[in-house]
Amino acid sequence: MSFRRDFVTKPIFSWARGVLPQMSDTEREALEAGDVWWDADLFTGDPDWSKLLAFPPATLTDEEKAFLKGPVEELCAMLDDWKINWEWRDLPKEVWDFVKREKFFGMIIPKEFGGLGFSPYAHSEVVRKVSTRSLTAAVTVMVPNSLGPGELLMRFGTREQQERWLPRLADGRDIPCFGLTSPEAGSDAASMIDSGIICKGNFEGHEVLGLKLNWHKRYITLGPVSTLLGLAFKAYDPDHLVGAQEDLGITVALIPTQLPGVEIGHRHLPAMQVFQNGPNWGRDVFIPLDYIIGGQERLGQGWKMLMTALAAGRGISLPSLSAAGAAFAARTTGAYARIREQFGISISKFEGIEEPLARIAGTAYLLDAARRLTCAALNAGHHPAVISGIMKLQATERMRIAIDDAMDIHGGKAVIDGPQNYLGSLYRSVPVGITVEGANILTRNLIVFGQGAIRAHPYLLDEMNALGESDRAKGLDAFDKAFWKHVGHSFATLFRAFGRSWTFGAFASAPDAGDATQFYRQLSRYSSAFALCADMALLTLGGALKRKEMLSARFGDILSELYLLSAALKRWEEEGRQAEDFAALEWCMATGFRTIENRFAEICANLPNRFVGTLLKFVVQPFGARVLGPSDRVVQRCAQLVLEPSAARDRLTADLAHVDDDRGFARLEKAFLLVTGSDDVARKLRAARLHDWHEAVKKGIITQSEGERIAAAREAVAKVIEVDDFAPEALSPIYKKSGDVHQFFQELGEQRAAG
Ligand SMILES: Cc1cc2nc3c(=O)[nH]c(=O)nc-3n(C[C@H](O)[C@H](O)[C@H](O)COP(=O)(O)OP(=O)(O)OC[C@H]3O[C@@H](n4cnc5c(N)ncnc54)[C@H](O)[C@@H]3O)c2cc1C
Repeated sequence: MSFRRDFVTKPIFSWARGVLPQMSDTEREALEAGDVWWDADLFTGDPDWSKLLAFPPATLTDEEKAFLKGPVEELCAMLDDWKINWEWRDLPKEVWDFVKREKFFGMIIPKEFGGLGFSPYAHSEVVRKVSTRSLTAAVTVMVPNSLGPGELLMRFGTREQQERWLPRLADGRDIPCFGLTSPEAGSDAASMIDSGIICKGNFEGHEVLGLKLNWHKRYITLGPVSTLLGLAFKAYDPDHLVGAQEDLGITVALIPTQLPGVEIGHRHLPAMQVFQNGPNWGRDVFIPLDYIIGGQERLGQGWKMLMTALAAGRGISLPSLSAAGAAFAARTTGAYARIREQFGISISKFEGIEEPLARIAGTAYLLDAARRLTCAALNAGHHPAVISGIMKLQATERMRIAIDDAMDIHGGKAVIDGPQNYLGSLYRSVPVGITVEGANILTRNLIVFGQGAIRAHPYLLDEMNALGESDRAKGLDAFDKAFWKHVGHSFATLFRAFGRSWTFGAFASAPDAGDATQFYRQLSRYSSAFALCADMALLTLGGALKRKEMLSARFGDILSELYLLSAALKRWEEEGRQAEDFAALEWCMATGFRTIENRFAEICANLPNRFVGTLLKFVVQPFGARVLGPSDRVVQRCAQLVLEPSAARDRLTADLAHVDDDRGFARLEKAFLLVTGSDDVARKLRAARLHDWHEAVKKGIITQSEGERIAAAREAVAKVIEVDDFAPEALSPIYKKSGDVHQFFQELGEQRAAG
């Protein structure tokens, strides 16, 4: 007998059970997938920074390092992205053979099954480097190592299945793909109508219990070349051959694509990217039950399996591509801005250029910090579902901004396509990253906070589980414990948020981190404000918060910023508090703080319960949103990081693929070094108001060797600013040879004149 439980908690429990929104099985399984990590600390309102700083950084083994230096660099040298995209529309055969032979498709498969047994961080580093040479190649090697047959078999497959399939996947004898999306079911993948009916059938000469499958999938990466399809479908047992239940739920199985009834369609062309992607169908395809991944006992558990795999995979693939994209944009755009002159000076001197350039450099710093931190968590065996959602969303969104900025700064040079254009392909690929693995609008509005609030909140999931408990007495007992802890936590958070907000975080907890200590204080302050506002929104809106997507998105943005900024602080610490990089850190902090403050203001202004909205404003933002973003001084210093050759620039843009092929990127690197290396000579010429270096030598203003230095730099710059052009017949089959184009238009003119 407990007075509190029976007389105070019980009525609350009864009321809450009545209003608790019904959760579908798929929603519950998505929520339960993976685990929580630093996101849970951020949700407490008082993150323990020492825990973050003590967390070991992601590192590579000697073998992984050797792979990056060896086969990865060899692969990069084999890739001609222009020809891959515009001439061959595929990877050439020797590249397919090479990636299979070197086991790029088996990076995550354990050695005992013939794979490379690499860590998530090594996988990320490989994808990152290859993507800066060719996105098509990066996606091709990335997909078999992310969500798909390999990962599902490793996690859920029976020993027999693992022994049969993993060695074949590791060395590329089998090419996998994963089919979830269908025409009717995109973001709402669980609504698929693809079906598997349990029945008896003949398989390899024997009658066995199995599934008759019918499906139509589309957008399937590697689908057109796949030999082993991981298929998601809904299983039904109308004749009760395996049990009493008819509707068994989403199931995943392995379908060798040579089985009768499997039809592999043609190819899609996703944003002019030529990685293999296309539709496929199955008509009455029969498989035995042991083709279900994990065997018969995994019937109906497909959604949970997929969500668990996604909880890790989403944190690696697209964040790695995006971090690489931002770093590549930073290196190339800084170099281009430095060497390109207009109005008589380098365009990098214009403030209008410095602003987007700082955005690119800051984004590169932030994204790689977050990628490394997330990989460190994955390396340590975590599967942080909320963080991987944040990473997928934020990395692809920010990469989009960085690439747009890079395009703008390059002007026509990046618009005109051809072998000399090192940005066009990256630019076109942006929508792919935005759309796949959970389209970004959905992820921002529904998933990050929707999942985060329940998973990462210290008490909410316990309360929800207690409310959903079928044994009422047991449920009440559990609810009583979680609820009162929650109440105590809410009061502590209220006072903490009030104290920290009214003192502008001056006394908020922070480790001694030198110049960065102030940033920890602000994040501690925002974390407590976030915990309070989230609790209040959950209390006043309950399950309706799910439909209030705009509010949910704003909470998600704050949580995302808290995570990304924590990662930036960790990077700063891990890299030994590099003084030159402080500008990038400052830029990230000021930009993130601005977003956080604006989102708090928007939340307070839009909470439907106006009393609570006003109260929250009074507590967490008494003086309104005050951070304006980085100062002009910080912007200029951050832009400067990529305008000179330096250790800071190399840290920011580390491990990109450098191939000396006299093409766009290689030419740019060369010109950049020559221009920055002849700055002294250029200054002398400018002071003498002379352009012609021969004349300057004659007048004794510069030496002959200085003249040759500037001449070499000018020549290199001229090569960079060149763009490609094509003979008409090379671009269009309408014209068979160059003369035809004139004839074509002449005939057209004559026809028009004739009426
Ligand atoms: C190049 C490419 C490769 C792919 N590879 C694979 C693969 O290998 N295997 C596979 O199974 N699938 C794959 N996909 C499918 C991909 O996962 C889907 O495209 C994605 O899930 C979105 O589905 P959809 O395109 O039908 O968009 P829709 O679901 O129609 O969404 C349209 C818009 O509505 C938004 N939206 C939807 N619901 C909500 C909501 N509740 N709240 C707010 N906004 C919402 C979305 O964010 C999106 O902006 C691939 C897709 C592409 C383009």
